[in-house]
Amino acid sequence: ATPTSIMAGSGRAAEQGVLFKTAESLETTKHIDTIVLDKTGTITNGKPVVTDFIPVPDVDAEQVKQLVASAESESEHPVAQAISDFGSAKLAVTGFEAVPGHGIKAHVEGRDVWVGNRRLLAGIAVDEQAAEQLEQDGKTAMFIAIDGKYAGLIAVADTIKDSAKAAVEEMKRMGLRVVMLTGDQQRTADAIARQVGIDEVVAGVLPAEKAGHVAKLQQQGRKVAMAGDGLNDAPALATADIGMAMGTGTAIAMEAADITLMQGDLMRVADAVRMSRLTVRNIK
Ligand code: ADP
Ligand code: MG
Repeated sequence: ATPTSIMAGSGRAAEQGVLFKTAESLETTKHIDTIVLDKTGTITNGKPVVTDFIPVPDVDAEQVKQLVASAESESEHPVAQAISDFGSAKLAVTGFEAVPGHGIKAHVEGRDVWVGNRRLLAGIAVDEQAAEQLEQDGKTAMFIAIDGKYAGLIAVADTIKDSAKAAVEEMKRMGLRVVMLTGDQQRTADAIARQVGIDEVVAGVLPAEKAGHVAKLQQQGRKVAMAGDGLNDAPALATADIGMAMGTGTAIAMEAADITLMQGDLMRVADAVRMSRLTVRNIK
């Protein structure tokens, strides 16, 4: 490998929006055979909006909306932004707690407000049927409990990136195995995966478990590139043989990654592998 060709290859890649951090990362990318993609913010645009709000009949719907919106205004999660925009988030919140991979717990005007997935509301009976229907459509359903009682559900939907389907097709055409890794639950993840042509989905993964799943693929002999955008993707990006951060994502993801993809365009994932294959081949 001549330093000159590596530098030239790096320069060409950069012009096309693929920023390799080191010469070594450009060489290693050639050997990648598996692409692991985070869902929110990587396959989707990461800007969910509320699509459904289904309060139980015996509550004051407006009040529940306001309690939930206020509680979520304290959270940094992408779904939280959507929910706080949906209601008017102006009640005083105390004792806010984010439970990673689960949801949030807060006190709002003396009420205990919980918003999150089934894991967060374990032991509380929820409207499973309504949730499953929403999830079938690729929406993320979150359950609400007020003072320990089920009060309703709220669902968000995120749009899929324009180039996602074509990008996945291109990765497969190049002989790459494509896997979706997400903290969202299985039914929602499957619906999104189907729309972009991904056949392999690992869902319901806690933030602390993401890196472990990447390691598991590596133990099976795979050379893994992980693409992600979020704070909780950083350990998985560092664990992967090659970490790819969306240029639209968090600074922490970019720090942990070997490659940054400008504009967060998923087609750049395939481009990165192609450019590495070409550059390294030309050197020989
Ligand atoms: P991802 O980044 O893939 O969405 P997370 O681990 O961050 O995965 O979240 C997993 C799930 O936990 C979400 O799909 C949602 O159901 C729930 N959750 C996380 N944060 C919140 C929040 N602020 N409000 C409600 N639910 C949340
Ligand atoms: Mg993400």
